[in-house]
Amino acid sequence: MSAAAFITAHPVAQFTKNRHFYAYYDGFWMLASLAAVALMVAAKWQPLFGAPQWWFALAMPAMWFCCSWAHLTIHNCTHGNLPKAINRLVGELLGVLVVVRFASWDIIHMRHHKYSDDREKDPHPNFVSFWKTVSNTIVMVEKQLFQQYFDTWGDTPENRRAEKRRAWVSYGANIVLLAAWFMFLGPWFFLLVFAPANLLAGLFVIHFNWSTHNADRAKVDADFRPVNLDSGYYWLGNRLFFGIYMHANHHTNPRLANPLFWDEAKLGPMEPCVDAKGK
Ligand SMILES: [Zn+2]
Ligand SMILES: [Zn+2]
Repeated sequence: MSAAAFITAHPVAQFTKNRHFYAYYDGFWMLASLAAVALMVAAKWQPLFGAPQWWFALAMPAMWFCCSWAHLTIHNCTHGNLPKAINRLVGELLGVLVVVRFASWDIIHMRHHKYSDDREKDPHPNFVSFWKTVSNTIVMVEKQLFQQYFDTWGDTPENRRAEKRRAWVSYGANIVLLAAWFMFLGPWFFLLVFAPANLLAGLFVIHFNWSTHNADRAKVDADFRPVNLDSGYYWLGNRLFFGIYMHANHHTNPRLANPLFWDEAKLGPMEPCVDAKGK
């Protein structure tokens, strides 16, 4: 693989070609985060922000918006919807901002498209209860990352041990990355702005998946499928975040960067929007 191809290749493609890809990937981010911490210590870095200020109250929602927007841009990057040369780059940079990093988004999201609404194999299947969906998603995403590895490379005792080790490197990389943000921004900004904005952005993404797989309307834990939503709150969300709530359109044609713009002449009739509140 040429250097250029290595930089632009999607993690999920590298993951299926190289059984050690994800260990290298996490190892790289662990070292990069450690280097950032070491550099700040060596340079006696003064945090960007000091004691709490009144404007932190405005910075938190602004930061939440940036992090949510970053997640959804990463989503477009996983589908290769930005110019070919920069999908990986943009995905990796924004993945550092939202801490979870690009590879997990990419690998988990491709699995979601393959097995959407399969209770066993979808990495984040839905339940009627939003909060049950949240707790289940947190557990399932890591489990399905393991499963994706076993599906690709075989479920052997050796691979199970290797994946366990890899997961620890992955958690470790996240902790060091958070430490780097903590030192860079300062403790107050980190605790009052960065961390809550990121947690809320994570919840927002889970809510997006929950509502667009019809859990908002479904009365039993069965009637889940990608739907198009475009009224009330969802109308606004579509205008702010690349038409994300047009999720039936997205599952039919993931290569549309904004599935709100559906060209019927080219793509055939669009699936009608279900009303968000179940009229
Ligand atoms: Zn989906
Ligand atoms: Zn998608």
